[in-house]
Amino acid sequence: MPPTRNRAAVPEQLGFAGMPERLFVCTPSKLGAYLDCPRRYRYSYVDRPTPPKGPPWAHNSLGASVHTALKNWYALPPERREPGALPTLLKSTWVREGYRDVELERAAYRRALDWLETYVATLDPEEEPLGVERVVAAKTSVLALNGRADRIDARVGPEGPEAVIVDYKTGRTGLHADDARGSQALALYAYAAQRVFRRPCYRVELHHLPTGTVAAHEHTDESLARQVRRAEEAATDIMAAEKAVAGGADPDETFPTNPGSLCGWCDFRKVCPAGASVAAKEPWAAVEHLAG
Ligand code: SF4
Repeated sequence: MPPTRNRAAVPEQLGFAGMPERLFVCTPSKLGAYLDCPRRYRYSYVDRPTPPKGPPWAHNSLGASVHTALKNWYALPPERREPGALPTLLKSTWVREGYRDVELERAAYRRALDWLETYVATLDPEEEPLGVERVVAAKTSVLALNGRADRIDARVGPEGPEAVIVDYKTGRTGLHADDARGSQALALYAYAAQRVFRRPCYRVELHHLPTGTVAAHEHTDESLARQVRRAEEAATDIMAAEKAVAGGADPDETFPTNPGSLCGWCDFRKVCPAGASVAAKEPWAAVEHLAG
């Protein structure tokens, strides 16, 4: 049977004896940290004081700079949304941390400006999104979810006005429809946006600026509900783990390591027993190719 697009929300429920259960307050990135590696989650959200992190990453600086420039582009009046505004926008909020040297930083700035110029040429300056870096929130029986979507577009679909989730990406590799389909964060934004804007929101898009490509997926009520269910399962596991540690369980066993390719990029590599054996990446490793 083909999936339907009828409204089928995950129902809000009451817990034992009609008492509301405590909701797990989270963002998609908090859930994602646990799903990637429970130990990384513990270092980020449970251990206090937070263990020392490694130095800032140049790719995070680059991503933040591009995101902020696009946010500020939409803050301009429509008649000033033109490519000529971009150098000032990018320069004024450029994040300098993590680059090997000024030469690499300049190369990254020039590439970022190229990406932005190409990208804004595809946008209609008259079009006002429903939200830019907009926080959307929703509750289920387990989650009090909130997150900041890069952009939420107002579009007209086959059945009328729709909201579309847009996420900007600045990483090296291009993205595919499977990346959009599998992203829990995008699905949770869509789920929350439906409730905030009271209009259908099924389409999610990854806009990869370095290649100027868009990877998109059309969700259904079923696929959104599935992602919400997975998020709820993760939240239930996290709450049980946090409770166990508060009750005296061994935190290392309760939040196990998940060694793998992410370790080289992990902020806590130096304090983590699994990460300490992994070769360190230089803070600029993911942007070095931009100098070529
Ligand atoms: S270094 Fe690897 S195993 Fe350790 S916390 Fe980070 S991602 Fe997890």
